[in-house]
Amino acid sequence: MTDHWLVELGYLIGAVLFILALKLLNSPKTARRGNWLAALGMAIALGTVGFSLGEVETRNYIFIAIAVAAGTIIGSISAKRVQMTAMPQMVALFNGVGGGAVALVAMIEFMASGNERLLPVPLVTAVLSAIIGSISFSGSMIAYGKLQELMPGKPILYPGDKVVTALVLMTVIALAVLPIAGSTSVALFAALIGLATILGILMVLPIGGADMPVVISLLNSFTGLAAGLAGFVLGNTALLIGGGLVGASGLILTLQMCSAMNRSLENVLFGAFGAAKSEGGEGTTAKGRMRSYSVEDAAIIFASARSVIIVPGYGLAVAQAQHVVKELTEKLEERGIQVKFAIHPVAGRMPGHMNVLLAEADISYDHLFDLEEINSEFPETDVALVIGANDVVNPAARTDKSSPIYGMPILDVDKAKTVIVSKRGMGAGFAGIENELFLRENTVMVFGDAKSTMTKLVAALDDF
Ligand code: NDP
Repeated sequence: MTDHWLVELGYLIGAVLFILALKLLNSPKTARRGNWLAALGMAIALGTVGFSLGEVETRNYIFIAIAVAAGTIIGSISAKRVQMTAMPQMVALFNGVGGGAVALVAMIEFMASGNERLLPVPLVTAVLSAIIGSISFSGSMIAYGKLQELMPGKPILYPGDKVVTALVLMTVIALAVLPIAGSTSVALFAALIGLATILGILMVLPIGGADMPVVISLLNSFTGLAAGLAGFVLGNTALLIGGGLVGASGLILTLQMCSAMNRSLENVLFGAFGAAKSEGGEGTTAKGRMRSYSVEDAAIIFASARSVIIVPGYGLAVAQAQHVVKELTEKLEERGIQVKFAIHPVAGRMPGHMNVLLAEADISYDHLFDLEEINSEFPETDVALVIGANDVVNPAARTDKSSPIYGMPILDVDKAKTVIVSKRGMGAGFAGIENELFLRENTVMVFGDAKSTMTKLVAALDDF
């Protein structure tokens, strides 16, 4: 018989490590340590589960060890191989399997109770975790499919879709009431899980475009909630606390992303953002004349500048230009030019994408400024250098009420004395719309892959 207090102590240590890890994840400087602490907490929690197995009848250690080893190997290989730009879909995939696992645990607990009814509170929590876990599983799989481009990324709408979703939701609620009302039918419980899985698909299909990461974060929160409920059913303190932490932090991240895009959660879930996207920005009537400069011409502009704000975007990540941007920063600073980086909260394709990218190139955090901190500085700045960013600097967000990004706070690069934009061509950004910034009088375009343009710029600066 295993000592109960030792098991509780193991779970407590695991939970404390999770909380400390979250605290450290607050800053890019300490985030790595935070990740290690969380992994240690998880290892301790898993070890404690293994240790506590002595208390219950299940002793299938080999099977459990194989499952843990398979999860660890798959997790670490995928984490090492995944491209930074593909992180959102990896998070969706892992989150989805977590939700699915929770639903299966609920199912097993229900089956294990046989004809004996579970006590009311564990029963309600088992039903809830089965529903939320199933929604999270299938919703995340659809999100993965959209972001991985295995299916169309834009909202998938069809006539009567809202009615169908509402009918499925009502059936799920009806099926959920049956076990609580006394049914011990495993078939009905399985039907509940099946229908909740369909509900998850129906809920995520109409969402697309830039709203996908918000949905992934919300589904993360769902999985956390479901896992917390499962922890309650199983009497596992670490799962209860860990699930609660994931649920709460996922929800906070969801709300923060909504606020960064100036949208309500309701609008994200039911507003079908991006339904009209990828049609090439129809309806936008950008006017003006585009100025295309060579790298050498751009270098001349830097030669007389005193202050530069660099605005990184998704294209910088695609081009992997972060290291050469660091060289450029050093070169400009050697000439006495003040260099700052303006970080938009949704630049790139995942929260914190630009911070991670620039940290990879050892660009010091003192150089990085959030939107609120730096926006007022653009009018006094000689050059705003936009590298592979588009939507986050699109002035239509301020003025064009018909634009899908209307209301999203943007970096006010257009207010700088000169704007230099590095991108390959006139390709649209994630929202699929035109950007009149590129036609403004104070904007010059330097076309080409960001890495090669920045490399040439660094070389050209030596000549001036
Ligand atoms: P955008 O997606 O708006 O624009 C990126 C631009 O980079 C494109 O216009 C493209 O133009 C250019 N580009 C692509 N490859 C290269 C390259 N090799 N060299 C140079 N330029 C390149 O990026 P932003 O960062 O401005 O905005 C992010 C968008 O993504 C927002 O709409 C945001 O809402 C959304 N989003 C954000 C997430 C987040 O959490 N951060 C998650 C998911 C979506 P061209 O083809 O002409 O080169």
